[in-house]
Amino acid sequence: MRNDIDRDLYEILGVERSASLSDIKSCYRDKARQCHPDVSHNDPDGERKFKELTFAYEVLSDAEKRSNYDRWGLEGLKTGAGVDFDGFSSISDLFDMFFGGGFAEPFGRRRRQDRAQSRGRNTETLLSVTLAEVGLGVDKDIEIRKRMTCDGCDGTGLSPGTHASRCSACGGSGQVRSTQRSVFGTFIRAGVCPDCGGAGEVINKPCPECDGAGLVWDTERLKVKVPPGVENGDTIRLRGKGESGARGAGAGDLYVRINVEPHQAFIRNGRNLNITVKIGMDEAALGTEIELPSLDGGFKLKVPPGTQPGDVLKEKGKGLPPRYGGRRGDILAGVEVTIPKRLSGKEKELLESFAEMRKGKAGK
Ligand SMILES: [Zn+2]
Ligand SMILES: [Zn+2]
Repeated sequence: MRNDIDRDLYEILGVERSASLSDIKSCYRDKARQCHPDVSHNDPDGERKFKELTFAYEVLSDAEKRSNYDRWGLEGLKTGAGVDFDGFSSISDLFDMFFGGGFAEPFGRRRRQDRAQSRGRNTETLLSVTLAEVGLGVDKDIEIRKRMTCDGCDGTGLSPGTHASRCSACGGSGQVRSTQRSVFGTFIRAGVCPDCGGAGEVINKPCPECDGAGLVWDTERLKVKVPPGVENGDTIRLRGKGESGARGAGAGDLYVRINVEPHQAFIRNGRNLNITVKIGMDEAALGTEIELPSLDGGFKLKVPPGTQPGDVLKEKGKGLPPRYGGRRGDILAGVEVTIPKRLSGKEKELLESFAEMRKGKAGK
């Protein structure tokens, strides 16, 4: 079955992007009636359409998921803050999550064991980098505390030399069925067996090291390649570096969320770096050169004669590298002009004769 969603979720539901929750609900109800598998027996595409529709509804009827989707699209639903998609890696996994084992009855089909029960959980960690590291990219060593395959039983959960026996609650299938009533009528839903967690087997004598879980808490050291130009909140996905799966199932993924530490001189502005510089009124009028820091040392910024307060001077190519192609950013120096608070007698004299010369030239 094809589960990929390549259409806009709003389009699937047939609502505007600004639609209210009640619009979304009523459009979903109307469309779902037409394609629910209990109704559209003749449409071979019915199940897919219904799942697609319900997926769109699940997302757009939830304020947090909807805003993640609006901002980042489908990707935002997998990695966005507050959305728990532990153990799921694809849209078809998401479907499985929303629909459990699927609609067993109308399609007379049985799913294989629910992967969500066996695949390792996804984990997340925060990684801080400096602005200088963002400039060049960096390899960082991290330590992740997570559940990993138990050495004592090699992940089986069994005490050495013992075997598992078939689960009596589900007869070894790992699934149990329940009847559900909904606005569309009654249908039968298959779910994961609560007794064996979908494994179809029960452990009689659990491994003493992991208490039958097949997993133990441990720390893993990893190297994370942080590409140049990352932004605060970017997430780097390391496939298979999440928690190990139970009983030999695949590992989850590790999501490394980037935290860019604030810099003492620069404020990041996309790929540009903003900085405030203070110069005297004489320097503003006559022009000068000032020493400024940069991410790779320092440089001299030229302040042209006649520079005004609030002018922004640009030093090209001294900013951050782009995350996805394009040229390097700039350093943007915002100019503040300071007026002396106290003048010596001589300074005052000079300034007065300067003022005398400037009479009638204000603003020039
Ligand atoms: Zn064990
Ligand atoms: Zn069972």
